[in-house]
Amino acid sequence: MPDGLADRENATLARLRGTDYARPRCVALIGEIGREVRCGIYRERPGPCREFAPLAEIGHFADACNRARARHGLPPLPVDRD
Ligand code: SF4
Repeated sequence: MPDGLADRENATLARLRGTDYARPRCVALIGEIGREVRCGIYRERPGPCREFAPLAEIGHFADACNRARARHGLPPLPVDRD
């Protein structure tokens, strides 16, 4: 991961800067939330980010995503009724 993007929590854990703010926004996120965003370090993104999409597709993280969305004034994610 590029320097300066993470805050060290302890000897083995770091967190992407901005992800734990009251209005969370990863410093690597580029664009305007609610319109169009993308990861600015996609090829170098850390493991948890790589694992996110497949787990989100089966419903993990929905509550956390919706809390973050609400803090940016966005509605909850649509529920997949398949
Ligand atoms: S995928 Fe990219 S923008 Fe999203 S949290 Fe990870 S590093 Fe940040």
